[in-house]
Amino acid sequence: MRDAGEAEAPRADRATDILSLTPADLLEMRRSDPKPTASAHEGRQHNLAVILRLLYQHGPKSRPELARLSGLSTPTASALVAELVDAGTVRDLGIVAEARVGKPAAKVDIAADHNLCIVLDLTHHGAFTGAAIDLNGAVVDRVQVDIGDAQGETAVEHAVELANLLIERAAAQVIGIGVASPGLVDDEGRVRVADGLRWRDVRLADVLRRRTGVPAVVGNDVNLLALGLRRFRARSGRDAVVVAIDNGVGAAVLVNGQPVLGEQFAAGEIAHLTVDPGGAPCACGRRGCLDVVVGAPHLARSLAAEGAGILEPAGRVLGEVLAPVLNILNINVVVVLGPPALVDGPFARGVVDGVASRLRPTIVEGLEIEVRSGDPDLVLLGAAAAVMETQLGVH
Ligand SMILES: [Zn+2]
Repeated sequence: MRDAGEAEAPRADRATDILSLTPADLLEMRRSDPKPTASAHEGRQHNLAVILRLLYQHGPKSRPELARLSGLSTPTASALVAELVDAGTVRDLGIVAEARVGKPAAKVDIAADHNLCIVLDLTHHGAFTGAAIDLNGAVVDRVQVDIGDAQGETAVEHAVELANLLIERAAAQVIGIGVASPGLVDDEGRVRVADGLRWRDVRLADVLRRRTGVPAVVGNDVNLLALGLRRFRARSGRDAVVVAIDNGVGAAVLVNGQPVLGEQFAAGEIAHLTVDPGGAPCACGRRGCLDVVVGAPHLARSLAAEGAGILEPAGRVLGEVLAPVLNILNINVVVVLGPPALVDGPFARGVVDGVASRLRPTIVEGLEIEVRSGDPDLVLLGAAAAVMETQLGVH
């Protein structure tokens, strides 16, 4: 994760994004009723995607099996498979021996290393990071661009250019773009607010789709961290709470494998929850917010000024904040992510003690609390997981 040393001058980030909103803004931002979804992919493109999706979800299949599963005729399914094999995204496995009696059939399978997700991490100060990640989670290309203090439209341009650069460099089929953004991101890939980038209502997914010709999905960085843990680290079950303290405190709540977004797409924005009413002043104008107690920049400063003795109590505060959420939603898995120098050891013990101090022992026994550090690609992998979910339909 981000180095605590970088945190000397924290800019307005995810944690403070919600500060700039008035109550009227928040009302305005409420979720609207779901609109009927238009079928974006028509005809052949749609059918190619269906075949790819079936193979990804069900494993190797014969052409007649694909026809049956897709509802297409066998000649149509075979023509689509031929096109995918030519493009390298599907592999012909030839005749596969089966235990079952019957006519052996040639099977095909998705080529996991020949389908790429282009992913962008827009959460770092002064730089955007991009990567190409295959369906196995292997990072096959990586680019970092210095964006200086770019904000607004200029920052959008940097994101588009980085995506196009990675698409140009891609040595295999690109199935989609996934973007981890700071701030509040709605379910259509519009960044409602990201103060650090001076973004308000930026339709980032639409812009990327239009400017690259590739389907795009945009999510809040902590929500994507949670998806990354689930898909690529075999961690955090279908229901989990994930907290990242690196760049301001943020949380994600996974229910049924999906991040809860909330009415204003602000679920998990816990940075300014008051945990110590008389405590240190916070950027929001109040005192003793969770961010000034456990946010990595503040925690690093406290550690330097007061020594390691502050870590365990800080972890305990976070644990106490999480306990009611775990209790109310009956969630058993908690993952806390942060810089190793801060979260390993006393802080981790504090989190466990803090949770345990608030809950009945029978609940505590069922909990799995993990404090995790040093997994720098996780947000990129989470963005890839989001692409795979939207393009290949796997949750
Ligand atoms: Zn605050």
